Formats: sequence, structure tokens, C-alpha cells
Amino acid sequence: MSEAVFTKERHIKYFLRCLKTFLPDLYTSNDSNRMLLAFFTLSGLDLLDVLESKTTPEERQGYIDWIYHCQVPSGGFRGFSGTDFGSERRTQDNEAWDPANVPSTFFALVILLILGDDLSRVKRVECLKWLPKMQRPDGSFGEVLGPGDNVEGGGDLRFCCFGAGTRYLLRGKSGAGLEEGVEDIDVEKLVAFIESCQAYDGGMAEGPFCEAHSGHTYCAIGALTFLDRLSSGSKKAPLITPGSEQYESLVRWLVTRQTTELGEEEDSDEDADDESHNGDNTQDLTKAVAELSLDESIDKLPHLPPPSDETLRWAGFNGRCNKYADTCYSFWNTATLDMLGKLPLIDAAGNRQYLLQKTQHFVGGFGKGVGEPPDLLHSYFGMVSLAFQGEQGLNRIDPALCATHRTVQRLHALPWWQGME
Ligand SMILES: [Zn+2]
Repeated sequence: MSEAVFTKERHIKYFLRCLKTFLPDLYTSNDSNRMLLAFFTLSGLDLLDVLESKTTPEERQGYIDWIYHCQVPSGGFRGFSGTDFGSERRTQDNEAWDPANVPSTFFALVILLILGDDLSRVKRVECLKWLPKMQRPDGSFGEVLGPGDNVEGGGDLRFCCFGAGTRYLLRGKSGAGLEEGVEDIDVEKLVAFIESCQAYDGGMAEGPFCEAHSGHTYCAIGALTFLDRLSSGSKKAPLITPGSEQYESLVRWLVTRQTTELGEEEDSDEDADDESHNGDNTQDLTKAVAELSLDESIDKLPHLPPPSDETLRWAGFNGRCNKYADTCYSFWNTATLDMLGKLPLIDAAGNRQYLLQKTQHFVGGFGKGVGEPPDLLHSYFGMVSLAFQGEQGLNRIDPALCATHRTVQRLHALPWWQGME
């Protein structure tokens, strides 16, 4: 059995190719998500600790200028420059067609910090005045302000996380420099909405009474972590308080997401066999099953071998019950467990072996599943999950901001962030 090796040099080449050459055509439909793609690319190189050695100061300044170009005059950032029709043509009547976007605003701010910018050109007050307008009466956040200042898009926990994250980045510990009375978001309503999304099994769903999902679970705990970091620490939500029923059931749900069901490619002979029976045979099948006695039905159940040392070697994570492992869920679950202080509960060796021997790609980057080509999202999240486990060659990373500790330190060093402390 070959050793699991993190192929750092190939990952550096993969992320540099994504930064400096054209992305594959499959990304065309993601043009409006450019801010997110920029975040994966630049944060990936920062995680690999080569952002400053493999790009020039001029290149980094160019990236910073592009991000500020995506800033909307009334506060917040667009996801790409495609909707910008120029400041001289922008009026109150047409600005709803070039709106700031909640997730893009969060990613723009984090990228600026990654690049070493001091956020001095960010329209901080305008952005913080825009943010409460994005909150709905039920406490959740939307994505953009449409015509007539209607909150549009989203409504699930993703936007709650980016709303709380943007507040964390721009409000700072004491709200210094915001003396003009900039209204805050409704924190209590946001917390109440998040709490209402916990499903019966302990995981978090996109909304009340929906199915628990690891991505939404990460966003819920990310939002609560951002809120908690700015609070005086007196009142913690039960979901992030060890010992509470909500916390304990959530941890149990997260840990049970680790799975040895990897969805590896089936034997191609079986597929060929299936094809030969192609056609509408539903009726035959129903009849055949109905004719079987209970004992015969049980005998027909597939044989499931018990786990062995061999099958337990690779253990990735899924995002919902009864799903196969997927690289990004190694991130969503381990990041959440890290925020909850429970990362040691997982089988770290199994996760590492799954990522490095099953989804790490020959040309660098990580695919979604076994044998799949690399993409930016899975490549970044695969590395971050390894970074939580202390993988050699990767910088340490903050699970809520999803960026290096150096990035968090840059934020905390800004004169207005710590305030009077
Ligand atoms: Zn995935």
C-alpha cells in the first residue's frame, strides 16, 4: 500500500494555473460568481504559503484594484463586474440592476485582507447601513436588494452566515468609528432563525422542518461564531454551548457523517449487464417481488460484508444521511467540529487517507469524488480540511473566516477593529 502523500508542488501549479491562465469552459456559467472563484484561488495560494512568492506586488495590486472596482457606490460589493454600467450612468432608478450581493461582499473583504490591504477604500459606513436592509422580518438574510428595496434571493442559512461575517469584519469589537449611529442588524432575531433550523436529528437544515445538511450546518455555526466573537461573551447560544441538548445532538450528527461509503466506480461489466435488460420491466419486477415469501425476500437482500481493517482505511464525509463521501463535506463537517471544539472526535487518519489517496488529483487539486477531475471548490476545501488536521506544508486556518490565521491577525490589527481595548 503506497503512503498517503500531500503533493504540495502540484497543488501550487494547479492554483497558479487557475489564477494566471484561463479557467476551463465549464466555469463559463459561473461568471457571476467570480468573487467566489477569486477567493478560492487566492486563499488557496495563501494556504499553500506561496501567494507572495509566486505573484508580484504589481499583480497583487491589480487584484486589489479589481475587487475595489466591484464595490458598489452605495455600499457592499457585486459578484463580478458584468452588471457595472459606470458611475456616471448609475441613478437611483437603475441601481437595483447592479446590486451589492451579500456573499460577494463577505468574500471581497476577506480577499482584500488576504492580499494585505488595509480596507481603507472600503465604504465601511455605507456597507454597514446596507446590511440591516438585507435582513428579513423572520431574522434571515437575503442576497440582493431588488427594485423598491425588496429583499431578494436566499433566505437560508448561507446568507445568515455571510451577513454575520460581514458584520464581524466591518463593525469590529467596539464599533469604533461608527459614531454617526449606524444601525446594527437584529442579532436576536438572527439567532432565533438559526435555532429554528435545527432538525430532529441534531443537524441544521436550510430552513425550519427541512432535512439536515452539512453545508447549512457549517453556515449556522459560522454565523453564531461570528456573533459570539463580537459579543461580550455573557450569553452564548445553546447550539454552541457544550452540555446543552442542542450542542450534543449536533456534535453527534456531525461525527456520524464520516463514512467509508465512497461511491467508488462500479465494475463496468455490471453496467453492461444492466443495459441488456433495458426496457419497461417494472411490472415484471413488482410481480416477482410479490410472489416471494418473506424468508425468500430476506435471502434476496444484498450481502453487506462487515467493515474490515481494509475498508476502514478510507473514511471521508457525507453531507446528509445515506449519501456517499464527497471532498467538500470533509471541509463542511470538520470545520464545524473545529468551531465547536470537537475535531478530535473524528477518524483523522481515515479522512486524510480518503482525501490524499482517493480524491487528490494527479495534476494537482482535488475532485469531488473518487476519480473525478479537480475543480476550485473541492481543491480548496480538500486542502482546508487537511490544514485543520495539521498537514505539513499548509498554513493554519481559521474555520469561521475560512482563511489563514495571518488574515485574521491582519483584521484584528486594523486601528478601528479593536476599538478602545
Ligand atoms: Zn462537494
